Amino acid sequence: MSKHRAASHRSQRPRRAGPGRGAGGLAGLAGLAVLVTGTAVTLPLVSMARDGDAAKETERVPVESAAVSTSASPTSEAETPDGEVAVAEEGVSRPSRPPAVSRSIPERGSGRFEVATAPPGPIEEATTYRVEVEKGLPYSAKEVARFIETTLADDRGWAAEHELARVDGHADLRIVLATPETVDELCAPLDTDGRLSCRNGNDVVLNAWRWNFGADSYGNDLVAYRRYLVNHETGHALGYPHAECPGAGADAPVMLQQTKGLDGCTANPWPARVDLDGR
Ligand SMILES: [Zn+2]
Repeated sequence: MSKHRAASHRSQRPRRAGPGRGAGGLAGLAGLAVLVTGTAVTLPLVSMARDGDAAKETERVPVESAAVSTSASPTSEAETPDGEVAVAEEGVSRPSRPPAVSRSIPERGSGRFEVATAPPGPIEEATTYRVEVEKGLPYSAKEVARFIETTLADDRGWAAEHELARVDGHADLRIVLATPETVDELCAPLDTDGRLSCRNGNDVVLNAWRWNFGADSYGNDLVAYRRYLVNHETGHALGYPHAECPGAGADAPVMLQQTKGLDGCTANPWPARVDLDGR
């Protein structure tokens, strides 16, 4: 599967000149990557990595399924190559382990966003991103932006291969933390069922419910889970398709849908360990 990543990430790297949303810089990446609650889903994993065609992948929709299981064992994911999402038929519940942050998350927010301010700096050829947090969430744009920035700038992350720069104006990517219902709207037409995150065109849409409650695969390590979530969805925006667990006990590729489960791998939020070094 590494051949796909190697082929795709370079060819699909967004350009700085692209507009923030809709068309332009990342238009070639137009697609949806969705985290799906997979509680009742039993379909086998279908990795986008099978496509093997970088040009084709730009037209495809890497769909991600993320289980919110009722037990400690997330179920398998379901996804289809054309971007349709199989959604859990049963209700979802919070991960069985107590969250590291015990706050409630409103299902619906204001629909308005606070953009995190960013100091001016040279961006040159960097892929730029802007961080926004929906107003009404118990998170400030500043703290979320700090976390995302440190994650994306970490040597263990995409920074090992990609130059990324946070801005507060026009940007190639918009990284949004939003309430479940707003996530659904931003991820449409995919049905995110209120518990999904996605990458939709130039939007990296993080579900605040996940941000707050994490996933069983990361236990109580909410910080590591958040790093995974940021790296995984941003990875899609950088052109990376899904990856599979290479073998029991191995570090999970960050492009494995780790929210759903680890397939025998060990949780790993950093792409440089496997997704980049493993090419
Ligand atoms: Zn994904």
